Amino acid sequence: TITTRFAPSPTGYLHVGGARTALFSWLYARKHGGTFILRIEDTDLERSTQESVDAILQGMSWLGLDYDAGPFYQTQHFERYKAIIQTLIDQGDAYYCTCSKDELEQLRADQMANKEKPRYNGKCRHSGKAHPRVDAVVRFKNPVDGVVSIPDLVKGEIIVANKELDDLIIARTDGTPTYNLTVVVDDMDMKITHVIRGDDHINNTPRQMNILQALAASVPEYAHLPMILGSDGARLSKRHGAVSVMQFRDDGYLPEALLNYLVRLGWSHGDQEIFSTAEMIEHFDLADVNGSASTFNMEKLLWLNHHYIMHADPGHVAGHLSWHIEQLGIDPSTGPSLTEMVLAQRERSKTLVEMAAASVYFYKDFDNYEEKSAKKNLTVDAIAVLTRLHEAFAAITEWEKEILHQVVHSVAESMTLGLGKVAQPLRVAVCGSAVSPAIDITLALLGQEKTLVRIVKAID
Ligand code: GLU
Repeated sequence: TITTRFAPSPTGYLHVGGARTALFSWLYARKHGGTFILRIEDTDLERSTQESVDAILQGMSWLGLDYDAGPFYQTQHFERYKAIIQTLIDQGDAYYCTCSKDELEQLRADQMANKEKPRYNGKCRHSGKAHPRVDAVVRFKNPVDGVVSIPDLVKGEIIVANKELDDLIIARTDGTPTYNLTVVVDDMDMKITHVIRGDDHINNTPRQMNILQALAASVPEYAHLPMILGSDGARLSKRHGAVSVMQFRDDGYLPEALLNYLVRLGWSHGDQEIFSTAEMIEHFDLADVNGSASTFNMEKLLWLNHHYIMHADPGHVAGHLSWHIEQLGIDPSTGPSLTEMVLAQRERSKTLVEMAAASVYFYKDFDNYEEKSAKKNLTVDAIAVLTRLHEAFAAITEWEKEILHQVVHSVAESMTLGLGKVAQPLRVAVCGSAVSPAIDITLALLGQEKTLVRIVKAID
């Protein structure tokens, strides 16, 4: 069966590049009825933090990327890595190296001076040091001849000559394993069939394949995903704006929108743009992943977000809106149903942050009117209009949209005023500004009591 993994190093938040890697690995497993594993690569004790682990787990969960096994932590596998390092030494595929830092620096300087690629010269490889020493690292005996052929599912076959690779350090002087060794051991033990990861790891792949071969382990397939660039063509980073998954939540994006955006970053299926999760799973294939870098386009993400705000189940959107309203310090149970709110506001909201901000006055009284709107609409003439409206609204026994519509229209007619001359002052009186959903919907949602109180307040 197909087994994939997402193997983040917990040294920061979950960023969009990592999330896309996770998504593609998840999709590939889901498509093939396989297993998706989450593995936290926390062996760099200095840079790994619990905070970052939490941020990664939170980001995955917010995006709905569930895993079948894990999270596994590499720091819990140290004994296993040590045993494998010993095995490699015992079978003659690894050796102790006592070359000093000075020696290695000199070697490097000489090679650079000769315009050679800096690489370890294998001095200790032949000196037969079979016994550990406190100051020794362990190096893997990379094959000297032949080539490694990476059958990359995205980039096509990549061939690397073994003579380009030197003897990699697999254990530091304190015995702790290095990155390439831990990845290999876990990929082997977890029976990973497809390694899907960023193409910044391409240089590690031939080394990892050689170690796997030395361990007589089966070599997985590889798919290296191209970089994500910012609009200026540089690798996507913080200075391009939001890059952390949870920042997109905070900025008012729906997880479906971000997921849909991420799946299209480097993958396509005809010219289809909108994918439900089920459609992604159905159509996803590594063969359709583009080998070249893709550019992050905020406008397109915003467009998708509006699409999902419009078309996702309003009750579902309401659940997310609720969180945003709470972030504003407002208790959403003090006002109209959030599902109704979504239906009233979704057309004019590109993000849930916008929607929440535009909904505040339904839940909380305001102290000030928006200045320009008030100046224009809460005039001396408007007081007569508001007084008439108050009378009419107070008499209503069924507070419903259709009835409210009629009442507003008949007040306008009876005063021989255009609808705007009635609806705008009313809007400013009850909403605090001249922007709101249609006036009948606004009043229906606000309710009779709040409407009457706010009109009185505007007249005073
Ligand atoms: N831990 C590595 C990283 O976060 C990924 C290793 C891998 O996927 O093989 O870049």
